[in-house]
Amino acid sequence: MANQNKYVTISGVSFINIEKSQFLNSILIPRIKNEEKTFIVTANPEIVDRTIHDHEYKEAVLRSDFTVADGVGILVAAKMNKMNIKERIAGYDLLVDLLEFGNEERLKVYLLGAEESVNKKASDHVKVNFPNVEVVGRHHGFFDMNDDRIAKEINETKPDIIFVALGVPRQENWIHNNIDQFNKGVFMGVGGSFDVLAGTVKRAPDMWIKLNLEWLYRMMKQPERFGRNLKILKFMIRQLPIFKRK
Ligand code: UDP
Repeated sequence: MANQNKYVTISGVSFINIEKSQFLNSILIPRIKNEEKTFIVTANPEIVDRTIHDHEYKEAVLRSDFTVADGVGILVAAKMNKMNIKERIAGYDLLVDLLEFGNEERLKVYLLGAEESVNKKASDHVKVNFPNVEVVGRHHGFFDMNDDRIAKEINETKPDIIFVALGVPRQENWIHNNIDQFNKGVFMGVGGSFDVLAGTVKRAPDMWIKLNLEWLYRMMKQPERFGRNLKILKFMIRQLPIFKRK
């Protein structure tokens, strides 16, 4: 029988094995209430694959407090090695859940990343749909990684949650390099989620998500991601038990 460990390790990355609602209610919400600084990585195969060749990035990912499985590929990789991950936790879904909680508790949120126009639209979307969330600041994602003014400015706004949409590897690297300056805050890399909030990119219809086919929908809608998809395929092949050394 597949095991039910609290953590499942895939290529050196340790995933918390938990349902989304439990992760939110029994871990994240108490940590936000206690103002405990928290770094979350929502990792898909592309992220795990990157940690194999990119040492700086691996350090950033391993530094996180929690890595959750954001991608059917991670669940499949676990299964292929006789492990079981309870549920996929999509970064976008977690972002929306956190905004809902933020709306109930009047939390302060900072939006870092994406193109300026996307960032602005995402911020407007949050203000309209989660009116009690205080968007304490926002900044586009095309800045110099060594420019520490951004982190200083964010810190001054004392946000409870900092969503970082800089893509892989910049978002996790930025969090890793800057989190020490903060006394509190949930930091989460959210990839292309601002594009979805802004309405410039559509998520797959619910049925595709339920059938675990969001990746296929994305592949069809964004053929320019072909190179990235090929890397994911190679990663999946390497997860086959025959390629694992004991
Ligand atoms: N992005 C950014 N700065 C950069 C590179 C990317 O702000 O230097 C943004 C980009 O505009 C997009 C997001 O990061 O909004 C990541 O998008 P991607 O499709 O790569 O994310 P995924 O969802 O695939 O992780």
